[in-house]
Amino acid sequence: MISDRIKKLSPYKTETAQAKIRLSSNELPLHLPEDVRIRIAQEVSKIPINKYPDPNASELKEVLSEHLKVKEENIVLGNGSDELIYYLSVAVGEPNRGVFYPVPTFPMYEISAKVFGRERVEVPLDENMDIDLPLSLNAIKTHSPVLAFISYPNNPTGMCFTQSKIESIRQEGLFTVIDEAYFHFSKKTFLEDAIKREDTVVLRTLSKIGMAGLRVGILIAKEEIAYEINKMRLPFNITYPSQVIARLMLTEFYPLIEESINTVIKERDRLFGELSQMEGIEVFPSDANFILFRSNFPAERLYKELLVRGVLVRNVSYLPRLERCLRVSVGLPQENDAFLEALEDSL
Ligand code: PMP
Repeated sequence: MISDRIKKLSPYKTETAQAKIRLSSNELPLHLPEDVRIRIAQEVSKIPINKYPDPNASELKEVLSEHLKVKEENIVLGNGSDELIYYLSVAVGEPNRGVFYPVPTFPMYEISAKVFGRERVEVPLDENMDIDLPLSLNAIKTHSPVLAFISYPNNPTGMCFTQSKIESIRQEGLFTVIDEAYFHFSKKTFLEDAIKREDTVVLRTLSKIGMAGLRVGILIAKEEIAYEINKMRLPFNITYPSQVIARLMLTEFYPLIEESINTVIKERDRLFGELSQMEGIEVFPSDANFILFRSNFPAERLYKELLVRGVLVRNVSYLPRLERCLRVSVGLPQENDAFLEALEDSL
């Protein structure tokens, strides 16, 4: 007796297209030298895989609390921030109250609202890809949602919404989740609010800083809020290898990660400049590690033209406001060059 709510969901679709240059998933290009790989392998080989991992991932949390400059009590870890989005979608307010988010945005907010049977209060972005405040406040008055998800910067559009607009939404009494998955590329944050206020939490992830394969998401909240969410957390949600490797990367090899982040930021700005010069291309500014652009051609055709030339990007043209738009992740300089060349050839 599977509920209709679940039957109506679609299976999660992964990108199956094969391509030499994959710029579709906003991963960080992180080259690990041989000695680093060996060191990781040595640490992993010591793991007693017949044992459960530390249910609290205490050692990893200790390192993260130093990195984030918050207390361990402010942190809840998830199997990716995806899992934390699920937790928040259950934990906040009464189950009959809705979830607000501007669209287009990260699809997990919609999926988790559907999974838990929450009303979805979706408000299209304005023409600048910012929150449409009058429309949002109106929708909030009409539907009284209890929870807001704000991707900051927004995926797939790339920009951070205006801070005062987020504050106006929060003032309506919504518990506000600021999803800072791309924080390392925007450097803009609500972290101070999250540790002080009862109505704001921040999500971060290791996925966009080179560790997507480890599945570690981080919720930062006031101690009392973190304490409550932690009660519903699946006890062993961070696997033993993930705890060990994430800790090692953050303590011993963080300079490698930082270097790659800096390269991506530089490359993003270069890519933006190059795309702005191209005839028939409209490019949107980005605070993230990907860039949204629109062309004069049907997006499906351009997507295929790029794929034929070995470059995989994300077709987001089916989303509201994003007609003829594609999203490209910023890669290594040579990958970005290959993308630009393929694009020139395709236009
Ligand atoms: N939030 C946003 C805005 C994202 O774009 C993504 C990944 N694409 C996530 C969360 C998911 O992150 P994780 O890998 O930690 O589940």
